[in-house]
Amino acid sequence: MTKTLRSPEIAEVESKMDSNTQVGPDTDSSSDELRRARLARGRVRLARVRSSRSRGQGVRAARRGRRQITVDRRDAVAARNIQLQERIHNMPEDSLRDLMFQLCQRNPSLVFDVLEESSRAQGGGHHSPARVQGQPDWCTCSYCREMPTQVERVCCGQTEQNCFSRLRDFDIVVLDELILHVARAYRQEIFAIQDDDDYNRANRHAGYRQYTLWQHGHLGAGHRRPIPSCCVWKIRDKYPNAFGQYRGYVPGRLG
Ligand SMILES: [Zn+2]
Ligand SMILES: [Zn+2]
Repeated sequence: MTKTLRSPEIAEVESKMDSNTQVGPDTDSSSDELRRARLARGRVRLARVRSSRSRGQGVRAARRGRRQITVDRRDAVAARNIQLQERIHNMPEDSLRDLMFQLCQRNPSLVFDVLEESSRAQGGGHHSPARVQGQPDWCTCSYCREMPTQVERVCCGQTEQNCFSRLRDFDIVVLDELILHVARAYRQEIFAIQDDDDYNRANRHAGYRQYTLWQHGHLGAGHRRPIPSCCVWKIRDKYPNAFGQYRGYVPGRLG
């Protein structure tokens, strides 16, 4: 059909090419083999193109499907959050207080959020009136001490009453000898390491790690955050170095 639209010369050339490759006059075996080989190669190529085409379509369809699932999931999570917010909004205040208490018991690190929230509500958090003489100007809780490096000049950011280092939880999780003993034993077991011969230094390091776990959860190797000065000194006061020598924060660890 298409040939009728072309010039007769082209049609003639095309028909010659056709006859050469398909039913040409050369009927000797070598050209026959060549032809068969060419045809076979063509078929393989065609099969490859078809399969890659269908594979491409399959991948695209799968991608579309995944996108759809992600969007559906996001919608479901958003709807669930709205529902949750509505339910919380309709809860009586007493139940909310009870629930908050239970949550804090289950997840002690929430205590930090509760304290921060109550500090904000009291309009505190900065420069509490109970400022102690010699208290560094970056401290709001009154329990911090001047630190040798800028990175260590961190306060818990609370009022004097809410300072993290004065929490009962702090005494248990970060300072208690039995808790620290268990934490050290667990670490030695996991990393197959020896306990530090220096008992107080071992407990200081364990206390710093406990604090970080308590407040931030697991940060992973090499990811450390400075501990507020008030908390560092509460630990050092309980497990002091006889000569008052401490390594300080060396982006890796505290001494
Ligand atoms: Zn402070
Ligand atoms: Zn503090």
